[in-house]
Amino acid sequence: MSKIAIAIHGGAGTLVKGMMTPEKEVEYKSALESALSDGYEILKNDGSAIDAVEAAVKSLENCNLFNAGKGSVFTATESHEMDASIMDGNSLDAGAVSLITGIKNPISLARDVMDKSGHVFLAGDGAMQFARSLNYEEFPSEYFYDELRHNQWLEIKDSDGFQLDHSKTKDSKFGTVGAVACDSNGNISAATSTGGMTNKKFGRVGDSPMIGAGNYANNETCAVSCTGSGEYFIRGVVAYDVSALIEHKEMTLDEAAQEVIHNRITKINGDGGLIAVDKDGNISMPFNTEGMYRAARYTDGSQEVLIYK
Ligand code: ASP
Repeated sequence: MSKIAIAIHGGAGTLVKGMMTPEKEVEYKSALESALSDGYEILKNDGSAIDAVEAAVKSLENCNLFNAGKGSVFTATESHEMDASIMDGNSLDAGAVSLITGIKNPISLARDVMDKSGHVFLAGDGAMQFARSLNYEEFPSEYFYDELRHNQWLEIKDSDGFQLDHSKTKDSKFGTVGAVACDSNGNISAATSTGGMTNKKFGRVGDSPMIGAGNYANNETCAVSCTGSGEYFIRGVVAYDVSALIEHKEMTLDEAAQEVIHNRITKINGDGGLIAVDKDGNISMPFNTEGMYRAARYTDGSQEVLIYK
C-alpha cells in the first residue's frame, strides 16, 4: 500500500508580501485548505488520484478568488473562455477542453471527454455540443461576473495587450488552478483549469488544456500541473519536460521540477511555477515568480498552505 499525498495551486505571479490585506490572505488560505481537504478525503478513503484531483480543482473552480470556473478572467470580447485538462498516470488516459463558456466546472467536462468521448481534446462549439449531449447545465454570464476581474479587463481592453491576471503589482486576484495526487495504490494524476489571460483574443489557448505543456501524469515518472504565462509553457513543453528529465536523466522529482522552472523556462523568459508528485508521494512546488498560491498534504500527514517564497 502506497502513501497518499496531494498538492494544489491557485496560480503563480507577482504576489508580494504586504500587498494583500491580512483578511484577504486568510480568505485565500482557507479556500486552498478546503480544496486540499476535498481531495485528501478521497485519498484517505482509498479513492483514486483521478477523483481526488478532480474534486480539488472543482472546489477551486467554485471559488471566485481564482482564475478558473467562477472567477475566470474576461476575454477581449468581455466574455469568458475556459480551458481545462486532466490525466490519469496509471492508464495515460487524458481529457481536455478549451474555449468553453457557461460551464461551471470545466474540469468535469475534461474528465467526461476522457471517460466518455473516445477523444482527448474537444474545443469551442464542439466541446459545448458534447457538454449539451451530457445535459450539462449552462450558466449565464452573470455567474462568472466578478467586479475585480472586470476592472482588470477595463484597464487594458482598448490595447492589444493581454496579461496574466497576476502580472501586475497590485492587490488583485490570481490564478489558474491545479492539483496533483498520489493514491493508496501508487497511482498518480494531474488536473489543471483556467480562464486564461485577461483580454485574450482570436481564440487564444494557453498551456493549461494541453497535455504535456500545462498538465501531465505518468505513474513511471510524475504528475504535473503548471501555472504561468502559457505561451512559454507551451514552447517549453514544461509538464512533459519534468517527466522526461526523470525518465531519461534519472533526476529526482524535485531536481527535475527545479531544473525546468529555474533553468529551462527562465532561459526563454517564462514566468510561473508548477506542482508535481511522484508515485512515492514526493511533492515539489517550484516557481520563479514572487509567489504561488499552493498547498500540500505530505505522506507523513503534515500540511502546508503557502503564498510567498
Ligand atoms: N497558464 C495559464 C494560461 O496561459 C495562465 C495562468 O497560469 O494563470 O492560460
